[in-house]
Amino acid sequence: MNRKIIKNARIITMNKKEEIIPQGNLLIENGKIIAITPQPLDAADALVTDAKGMLVMPGFINTHTHLPMTLFRGYADDLPLQTWLTQHIFPAEARWITPENVRLACRLAFIEMIKSGTTCFNDMYFFEDIIAEEARRAGIRGVMGESVIDFPTPSFRTPREGFQRCEAFIQKWQGESLIHPSVCVHAPYTCSSKTLQEGRRLADKYRTLLHIHVAETRQEVENITAQTGLSPAAYLHDLGLFDGPVVAAHCVWLNPTDIQLFARHQTGISHCPKSNLKLASGIADTTSYLKAGIPVGIGTDGTASNNSLDMVEEMRFASLLAKGTHLQAEALDAKATLQMATINGARILGIDQITGSLEVGKSADLIFIHADASNMIPVYNEYAAIVYAMNSKNIYASMVQGEWLMFNRNLCRLDKEETLREIQCLGQKIQQNRPHS
Ligand SMILES: [Zn+2]
Repeated sequence: MNRKIIKNARIITMNKKEEIIPQGNLLIENGKIIAITPQPLDAADALVTDAKGMLVMPGFINTHTHLPMTLFRGYADDLPLQTWLTQHIFPAEARWITPENVRLACRLAFIEMIKSGTTCFNDMYFFEDIIAEEARRAGIRGVMGESVIDFPTPSFRTPREGFQRCEAFIQKWQGESLIHPSVCVHAPYTCSSKTLQEGRRLADKYRTLLHIHVAETRQEVENITAQTGLSPAAYLHDLGLFDGPVVAAHCVWLNPTDIQLFARHQTGISHCPKSNLKLASGIADTTSYLKAGIPVGIGTDGTASNNSLDMVEEMRFASLLAKGTHLQAEALDAKATLQMATINGARILGIDQITGSLEVGKSADLIFIHADASNMIPVYNEYAAIVYAMNSKNIYASMVQGEWLMFNRNLCRLDKEETLREIQCLGQKIQQNRPHS
């Protein structure tokens, strides 16, 4: 039996009762939380960690990523989405996205995510099988699937082949405790109605999440409306895409009818404020979405458009933008923001029975925050300290399924130096072979 005790922690549970235990103790057995209590715990053969001076909370859940895009961090900046995507990112992906490079690039992503407190992500990309292998090796939790799109990609030539890869991926990884397979169709502007509906059918067949980009730019809304007479959300709804669990990334441009559709179907939204700002796509009105009862999580998107995977930063942008755009300081308060970054993220991914809060029976997916740091004290309110004051360097330790991924800011399972060295070499090669514009 693998037993661990964490003692003397200020525990922010993120459970339904919104409990905070000022001096709490956790007992973890075989990766699961067995007890969470202010009473002292004692268990023979348990490894005890003293968390005095630490806030302990569920790890962050990044609800929208394309992990191997770490390779293209800073490759093309200060461009609008269509130019950025079609003239720079798609050609670079065609040239550089190989199985070996995906393996290396997602290792870099895991290092960055673990060091900034993320314990779970929701990814769509190519060669997802390799990403799953590396996630298992890194010990991090992930919801993921091969991104199906209508044109040839580095990992498949036709949508039919893409779905074959997608289905093989689901069959291979279903039942793995850290890997949660999903079906991903890229977007309504890159997939035909046939592709989109096939995505729904496959997600229904295996009861998985469906992950898609929706209403990211005004241009997308104009184009889809010109082609179909409907907004992107209404078009997808008409195709039956919302008849099951969905995470729709971005949703910057939803009209009031779209908002009702999302609320009625409880379709999840992954809010990616930094990527939307950087590509000048706009600002999603999360305050109205939450008011309508839509479940909303937070995501970083890929590092080519962000340019980081840091959920601490992302969370702060989400909160401050809502306040600034509504001219209301209470528009998105600290607690609601932290819920989006943890339990609500788990909820939209359909894994809130497993992770997202610290509760008996759930997986021990958690982080330690060094709350005695000069940029955080005094901590009058835990939520405000985390959302408004903390930076990712305050994260001291991280655990998924009861296994340490980082302790005292040292990575426990990944070789940081080797990965960084290899990425630097590859980055130089990409730079030297850049097409001249
Ligand atoms: Zn994206």
